Amino acid sequence: MDFLKLNDMDLEGKRVLVRVDYNVPIKNGMVEDDTRLKATIPTLNFLLEKKCKILLMSHLGRPQKELKKGKTWDEVKKDSTLKPVAEDLSDILGIGVGFVGDCVDIKIPEDKDIVLLENLRLHSEEEKNDDNFAKKLAANADIYVNDAFGASHRSHASVDAITKFIPSCAGFLVEKEIDELSSLLNPEKPFIAIVAGAKADKIGALKVLIDKADKILLAGVLANTFLKAKGVNIGSSRYDEATFDIAKRMIEMGKEKLIFPEDVVVADKFSKDADTKITKVGEIPKDWMVLDIGEETIDIYKRELKDAKTVLWAGPLGVFEMKKFSNGTKKVGEFLASLNAKVIVGGGDSIVAVNSFDLADKMSHVSTGGGASLEFIEKSGKLPALIALEKVFKK
Ligand code: ADP
Ligand code: MG
Repeated sequence: MDFLKLNDMDLEGKRVLVRVDYNVPIKNGMVEDDTRLKATIPTLNFLLEKKCKILLMSHLGRPQKELKKGKTWDEVKKDSTLKPVAEDLSDILGIGVGFVGDCVDIKIPEDKDIVLLENLRLHSEEEKNDDNFAKKLAANADIYVNDAFGASHRSHASVDAITKFIPSCAGFLVEKEIDELSSLLNPEKPFIAIVAGAKADKIGALKVLIDKADKILLAGVLANTFLKAKGVNIGSSRYDEATFDIAKRMIEMGKEKLIFPEDVVVADKFSKDADTKITKVGEIPKDWMVLDIGEETIDIYKRELKDAKTVLWAGPLGVFEMKKFSNGTKKVGEFLASLNAKVIVGGGDSIVAVNSFDLADKMSHVSTGGGASLEFIEKSGKLPALIALEKVFKK
């Protein structure tokens, strides 16, 4: 796709508004995984060298949804503030990062070269791709840079509408992600995809992967949905009702390509103190739930992966956050790290998983986008925010 890049812009001394994806896990006011912060450093350093004043904007979580659920504004604001991110970024950059408690109609502090604005999604207009809101965002600066690959699959004001109101370009992270993920559009074969985790919307990418991939290894909630669709009793395992029918159709379409767990780790409750056992997939006891794949499945998956030239890993193979259910994710992850293949990992929780097993450096590329990396494949690279950049470039 054709659009302006950082190197095409006259940036010297300008005020630059950078959309980043700092939608990171935060616990007790601390950033738990800073992969997405570190991934934007090349762009930030480049702009600092050009003596730019940098304004950063991002979303975090789903505050509008929390409001709809009945939480008060104060609760939501407290839970979804980006303030802890500004502190973490200060540590990474080694310079003080300022923070402003809103993202529009604001006074920008003059004493800081880099300032993070408050969570975009505290304004409901953000997710509506609202022109007036986008105009107000644009009024903050001279130039706009999209370095939020992880948010580029959505038509939201800060990545889409904004490009109509300010000179716009892509940042280094967006460029790099496109470069790396493009190799999945025409992958060197054999191409094996591991599609796991909990998010049901991954089924959209599966539709395309059934054409492109040689094999698709399933696990997690996604596998549960498919197993149930095949008529397997999955006990009290989590599965997705809404994609049940699509799963049935896909089993028809992709019979030889879809590989399912043969044995699983089941638990009597969703807890680190649960009783657990390994069972064959056909023998999952009533009231027990699948929380990881078993050793036999790990071996089968390794066998499928061993000659791969390209691998896409999208989603943990079990509830890796609890040690008891981390074995499948860890073992398959370690095996991927040992392969002589292009291995691309995508997804917020997948990033946490590869980091917790110390495997990130051993992968070819760890994408900062979960949904975005899958939609990149699904839409052959044509993500809404990239289309927006292309449109203004062609004008
Ligand atoms: P990603 O963020 O990498 O795209 P997802 O958000 O789709 O991944 O899913 C990650 C979550 O899936 C993890 O929190 C993990 O605990 C959960 N998960 C994996 N396997 C299971 C399972 N069998 N049952 C319930 N949750 C699971
Ligand atoms: Mg996730």
